[in-house]
Amino acid sequence: MADADLIVVGGGISGMSLAHTCARAGMSVLVLDGGESPGGCLRTRQGPDDFWYEMGAHTCYASYDALLRLVLDLPGGLGTLIPRAKVGMRLVVDGQIRTLKQEIRLGELLANAPRMFVLRKAGKTVRQYWGAAVGPRNWERVFGPVFAAVPSQPADDFPASMLFKSRRKRKDAPRSFTRTGGLQSLALDLASPPNIQFRPNAKVQALQPGRDGGFVVSLQDAALHAPHVALAVPPDAAAGLLGTVLPPAAQAAAGVATCAVRTVGVAVRREDTPLPQAAFFIPLEDVFRSCVTRDTVPDAKYRGFAFHLAPDVQESDAIRRIQEFLGVPEGRWVDLARHQVVLPSPRLGHDTAVAAIDRALAGTPLAVTGNWFAGLALEDCVQRSVAEASRLAGTVPADVVPVVRSS
Ligand SMILES: Cc1cc2nc3c(=O)[nH]c(=O)nc-3n(C[C@H](O)[C@H](O)[C@H](O)COP(=O)(O)OP(=O)(O)OC[C@H]3O[C@@H](n4cnc5c(N)ncnc54)[C@H](O)[C@@H]3O)c2cc1C
Repeated sequence: MADADLIVVGGGISGMSLAHTCARAGMSVLVLDGGESPGGCLRTRQGPDDFWYEMGAHTCYASYDALLRLVLDLPGGLGTLIPRAKVGMRLVVDGQIRTLKQEIRLGELLANAPRMFVLRKAGKTVRQYWGAAVGPRNWERVFGPVFAAVPSQPADDFPASMLFKSRRKRKDAPRSFTRTGGLQSLALDLASPPNIQFRPNAKVQALQPGRDGGFVVSLQDAALHAPHVALAVPPDAAAGLLGTVLPPAAQAAAGVATCAVRTVGVAVRREDTPLPQAAFFIPLEDVFRSCVTRDTVPDAKYRGFAFHLAPDVQESDAIRRIQEFLGVPEGRWVDLARHQVVLPSPRLGHDTAVAAIDRALAGTPLAVTGNWFAGLALEDCVQRSVAEASRLAGTVPADVVPVVRSS
């Protein structure tokens, strides 16, 4: 007997939005995740006195139409959105806090910026497109590190079309926002309807064809059955699971590179740190690639910081440097947390791999979604998941506000 109409492997925003869409279409859904709670890259850390800060994704925009439609389905609707305060970005140069304006070569920028009007993103890497628009020295020194902070890895070789998409903005949402209690609340709320069951600490080891045309999903200590399965895991994990059921899709997924992102989160009392207010601190060179703060939703007592570490940095070195950066010894920190996720590192030609996966999936009761199809943004994940859910449930996806410009 089936354990659910649909088993979703991976409970990040991709898996939870797919589960939600299928549950609304009447399916019973079981979500399995290797972690302890729904969210994946949505990871809101609970500090003291109800203070929270983001260890993963932190910002949504009024242009996230598919995501906003999910929010409208959840208790509280758009009333749960909190506009983010504009506190700007700071660079860290040789240990000094600087502004972008102070570091950019303005002459080089002005000489190159008009190229934006003729350049096209298609077939270009981020560096080829944006580097040409800001000038090579500006790219090398300032914009390369700033762009690397977006996907928490060097963005130079990403397809330009996958980063900073232009989308039409909705008028009923704040320009940029988070949610009451932080963004992980999205994944938690999506997991709450009665026909969705979320099982934590459930790492899927294998996926096999079932005798009845469905699937057998193997955990370390159990075998579960369902007529439909959706994979919402990073590409390396998807490649491992697809091998026995859809080899051409497995092969295409295996070609998508990945990288691990390690994060150290710290909360301190407001009065303890002399750091100026900023949404992000981006070092040109340091043990961390970026530091994302809670200053966008100011708190009377505490400040929170997520340091996304550079690869190969020893944790002890990171802790030493974070104490120095915050100007607060570890003994006075009120919270310390760690998190690790896997992100895709797409390259030019990525669309060929996606097309191969979609060809292999067509007509099957299997779906594959994630942040490695259209892009890494939460909106890209939800759009892909809604389309895959509609295919599985045999429903027509509601129109998604289209990308209006992707030059
Ligand atoms: C630090 C950081 C900041 C970001 N900031 C933003 C932002 O501000 N705005 C924005 O739009 N985007 C942001 N992003 C990108 C966005 O958060 C992610 O692309 C998106 O959340 C990924 O969702 P996902 O569900 O596709 O994957 P994930 O969130 O990675 O979820 C995959 C899940 O699969 C589970 N899993 C893996 N293997 C197995 C297995 N074998 N069995 C069971 N479970 C498994 C994992 O435990 C995980 O929970 C950020 C990403 C990071 C890392």
